[in-house]
Order: sequence, then structure tokens, then C-alpha cells
Amino acid sequence: MATIGDITAIAQADKIGQRPILRERGQREVFCGLTGIVWLHRKIQDAFFLVVGSRTCAHLMQSAAGVMVFAEPRFATAIIGERDLAGLADVNEELDRVVEQLLQRRPDIKLLFLVGSCPSEVIKLDLKRAAQRLSRNYVNKVRVLNYSGSGIETTFTQGEDACLASLVADMPSAPAGELSMLIAGCLPDVAEDQLLRLFGAMGVARVAVLPARRSTDLPAIGAGTKVLLAQPFLTDTAKALEERGATILATSFPFGAEGTSDWLATGAAAMGVRPEIVEAVIAPPRARARTALAAHRRRLCGRSIFFFPDSQLEIPLARFLANEMSMDVLEVGTPYLNRRQLQSDLARLPGSALVSEGQDVEKQLDRCRKSRPDLTVCGLGLANPLEAEGLTTKWSIELLFSPIHGYEQAGDLAELFARPLRRREMLEA
Ligand code: SF4
Repeated sequence: MATIGDITAIAQADKIGQRPILRERGQREVFCGLTGIVWLHRKIQDAFFLVVGSRTCAHLMQSAAGVMVFAEPRFATAIIGERDLAGLADVNEELDRVVEQLLQRRPDIKLLFLVGSCPSEVIKLDLKRAAQRLSRNYVNKVRVLNYSGSGIETTFTQGEDACLASLVADMPSAPAGELSMLIAGCLPDVAEDQLLRLFGAMGVARVAVLPARRSTDLPAIGAGTKVLLAQPFLTDTAKALEERGATILATSFPFGAEGTSDWLATGAAAMGVRPEIVEAVIAPPRARARTALAAHRRRLCGRSIFFFPDSQLEIPLARFLANEMSMDVLEVGTPYLNRRQLQSDLARLPGSALVSEGQDVEKQLDRCRKSRPDLTVCGLGLANPLEAEGLTTKWSIELLFSPIHGYEQAGDLAELFARPLRRREMLEA
């Protein structure tokens, strides 16, 4: 059990701890960054995401967001045709025309993201310049930003990172010396509201979020801004925030009872809240979370788990499952390892867990088959073949579509891992 006092001790231990990391490069099995639009468009309610891509990109968006049917969706694909690819048409003119049509039809759009893709990168379409040009054309009406969701050398959560990083340059400057807190990372409203309420109960009034629900509510940032990352994959966003003078707080990510306690306590300490006030506020929800987790621990305790690299949530989730659910973590694969942002979760992983960065999918499949884990967390492309081989799998993308942060969601998070095991037991019974 972690207490507020433990946080400093763990942070110090991590500075001197050296954990061997297996680094691999080879064929990878991951989705691209366009996938993030599925949850980003729900969050920023007056934004529109225009993917500049191919029919493949349009199909991906349709199937990834296929569960939701909107009369007026807030994302679309401007399809680059064969003439464009061959350099026979001026893609910029086409893009301007599509944007004009869109904004005439949808006056509610206040922020337009031009989202780059593999095809737009291959033809070297300069979306940054296009966004600047369109921003000038629609000044005082619509802001136009760009980011890349391309699948070339990236993984699917990097789409959110790129999107949020593009917003940072537009954030206003906070007055010098003003202490404030910023939670960075796209959270479901229910989880975000709970975390904000807890900070409010501690007396921390100035807590902003990135992204805000309305694009016009971009928070101010400056040297007094303390940033709590809510997602572990925000490398570029964190860098952009630091360049604006903010401080990124080192802590565990808010998964499970203990991760959430560390995260809240670190934020509160940075804002000068006394530990006894923090403890008084977090004790009741932490107790509820522990009770909810106990119900699932019976099923998860002692079961082995293997993570393929996919969402970049792997290390904090492995920490949660090992320390709070007593699971046996065999391997934790992550597409990229940001040691600084993950130092606290990494330091808490059991020494027996192999941490691997990058992927050579055939080698990793061999290791997985050899160790025969009770549960394998992987992308959709690997899940079916592994299930056919008798392994029980969990789709990692589900962890992005479900509210899993904070105390009140801790039981649901554990349930996401317990459910496939239960399903397998029922099939075998
Ligand atoms: S961005 Fe690239 S990887 Fe993603 S759907 Fe389009 S072509 Fe495929």
C-alpha cells in the first residue's frame, strides 16, 4: 500500500534504479494515429477533424467509429485521388474548396484540425502551411490547426499526442508568478469531473484541462503551471508544455486505487496542499476503489499476463495489475518507452517482468507462445490468431474507449481484464 510519504522514496529509488530493457525493431502490428479522432472528437465538442487521406483512411475511420452513427459527425476524410497522387491536380485548391463547403454547411465548427495521413505525407502535402492559410482566410471565425495521424513509424495513441501538442502553441500566456495546475490528456468527462471534484475538495481551485471541452476555453500556461499528465503517451505534448515554461510532475498514472492516490497527492503537493488534507479527501474514494478491486482480485490473483506493445498504456497498467491485483506480469511490451514520464510506474514493476520496447512481432509471438500466459493484451490483428491457438486475449484498444482513470473506475478497469478470463472459463466448463 502506498502512502503519501512513499512517493518521495520511490522517486529517489528510481533515479538510481537501472532496469534492463529489451529493445527490438522489426515488423510491428499497430493501428495508426487517426484512431485517436474517435475519442478526441467526442471530447472537443466544437472541433472538426478533417483527415486528408485515402479511401483506406476513410474506411479505418468508418470501422473504428462504426459503433457510432451521427447525423452530423465531427470528422470526415478529404480523399486524395489518383490525379492528386500523380501530381496532376493542385491538392491545396481542392482542400480549400472542401473546407469552404464544410464550414458553410457547419457554422458550429470553431476549430478545424487538418489531420495528415500516410498518403498526404508521401506526396509531401504541407498541411502546416495549409492550416496557416486557412486560418487567415477564416480569421475570427474558425481556427485551423494541423497534426499528423500517419501510421508511418507511429502508433495509434500518438494521434492524441500530436493533436494536443498542436494546441499548446495556441494557449494564452499565464501572468508571471501565477501558480496553476493543468491536467493534460483526453479523459472521459465522467472521470475528469471526478478528479476535478477531488482537487476542488482539497481547495485547489485553479485546475485546467487540456483538451478543454470547448476549443475557445484553452487554458493559460506559464512558468507557474504544474502539469499532471493523465495519459502516459503524451511525449510531444509534454515537451511543448515545458517549452512554454510549465513543469511536468513525476508521478504514477491514475490507474487503480494506489496509482490514483499517488497522482492526486503529487498534484496536491505541487499546489501546496497539506498531506493531512489530501489524506482526508482521498480516504473515502480510495476505500471504495479498494473494495471494488477486491471483488476482481480473486479471479486475477496469480494469473499470468503478457502485453504486446500497442497503446503505450502498458507499463502503468502492468504496475496496477502486478501490485494491486497480484497478477504475474511476464512481459510488458511498449512501442516507445519514455523513461522520464514513466519512472514512477516503471520503478514499481516487479523485477521478474521483462520490459520490451519496440517490436519484432515474430520474436515476441514466439516468447508469448512459449510462456503460455493466462491473458494476452494485444491489438486486434493479433487477438484472433492467438485465440485460435487457445490463448485468452484482451484488445488493448478497448482500454482507450473505456473510462478507466480514477477511483470510481478502478473496479471497471479490473473487470476489463477479468472478463476474458471468465469468458474462457465458461467456454471450457
Ligand atoms: S493514415 Fe496510413 S495507416 Fe492510417 S489508415 Fe491512412 S494509410 Fe492506413
